[in-house]
Amino acid sequence: MPLPSVRADVDACPGALRLHAAADGPLARIRVPGGRMTGAQLTAVRELAARWGDGQVELTSRGNLQLRALRDAPVAELAGRLRAAGLLPSETHELVRNIVASPLAGALPVEALDGALCADAALAELPGRFLFALDSGVGDVAFGADVAALPLDPPGEVAIIFAGVDAGLRVPAAETIPALLAAAHAFLDEREAQLGSPAPDMSVDSHPVAPPDSSGFVASVDVPPDGRPPRRVPHPRAGSQRVPWRVRELLDGPVRVAARTAATLGRTLREPVRLSRPVVREPIGVVGQPDGTVAVGALIPLGRLSDVQLEVLEAAATLTFTPWRGVVLPGLTPQAAQAWVAALAGAGLEVAVGSRWAGVTACAGRPGCAKSLADVRADADAATVAGDGLPVHWVGCARGCGSPAGPHVRVEATGTGYEVRSPYAVGSASAAEVGVLVGAARKG
Ligand code: SF4
Repeated sequence: MPLPSVRADVDACPGALRLHAAADGPLARIRVPGGRMTGAQLTAVRELAARWGDGQVELTSRGNLQLRALRDAPVAELAGRLRAAGLLPSETHELVRNIVASPLAGALPVEALDGALCADAALAELPGRFLFALDSGVGDVAFGADVAALPLDPPGEVAIIFAGVDAGLRVPAAETIPALLAAAHAFLDEREAQLGSPAPDMSVDSHPVAPPDSSGFVASVDVPPDGRPPRRVPHPRAGSQRVPWRVRELLDGPVRVAARTAATLGRTLREPVRLSRPVVREPIGVVGQPDGTVAVGALIPLGRLSDVQLEVLEAAATLTFTPWRGVVLPGLTPQAAQAWVAALAGAGLEVAVGSRWAGVTACAGRPGCAKSLADVRADADAATVAGDGLPVHWVGCARGCGSPAGPHVRVEATGTGYEVRSPYAVGSASAAEVGVLVGAARKG
């Protein structure tokens, strides 16, 4: 029985120890579970970007941070600085600490899930793309994850959602973390079962990785910075099926992984419910929080923070980067919130409802990505006007990195212009004229 189609390259997700050879130089990705960090930690990241990178910090669609153009950066020193700042708590699990959380819900157990994940040795074998989500119940992050906890009625009960699908698994809220870890184990077990191999091939996976050689093994081209044993991850044999990275890439993935998880937890699956995906609006301006304080949300145009913007944000005690390339400063008084609105606006971040950047994101494009057919960020900047409707994501090639999980307008470079696709419209236009088409595609 064939597996659903999966991509044909190796899992070479970048990390803090395994840099990606981007067109503009080595790229490091720093996992930030829940997007949450302190101002002091952001200072450490800015100093790394200023010392070895291009001076900017890039946000990903999971609220992680990236440093680009790290030419001549010593990986050991990068790792040491991140470790000292508390941003590299585990070297074995650094690629799998992929956790998104509803950014306006401060009480979610992000740290507890991160700690439990890092303490589970077997889960170091998860693919770097496998994503956990802790949703507050509003549905803003649950549907794009591989396994998600989504509170439902009655209160105190949580639905465990698999690849955006409810398969009927319910657990008490107090058992959320064991249930998510059991779901991750169930994914690994189901993957092995579908690949028909009782024990995976193991290959050296260091930083960076090279394509598989003729034996199907990934070649190590560098050594870890501290001399520890190289991390080992499963990789398919040459000529065999590729290893799925996501629940949705398994045959009947949500149903089968849910059944395995339920068996592990000793629970009976209930009748699934059809969950509707909300239209997600990124927090912007002053917004209330469940604990009675207020937060300030700001959009980061095209997901890049300059050194000046970083220095402004570093004054915050805590901050949360969102999956929509924004930032939230939580737990403020109304007076403090107004001061932050002024400071962020002065630094060029977007804090006004109606910003032209609301709902607009882009991949790296040229010159950072060698695959890109256009400078999508420059073209998006030129074409984007204020508007509402569906989110818009610009991409430089068919790979579509960072695409939103829900309905959106995809603006894909073709080499001669852009193809625009949404649930409402399909069309093509030159870079100079694509803005009109995008505006129409957002609204239907
Ligand atoms: S979508 Fe294509 S062009 Fe954009 S970052 Fe991904 S691979 Fe590069």
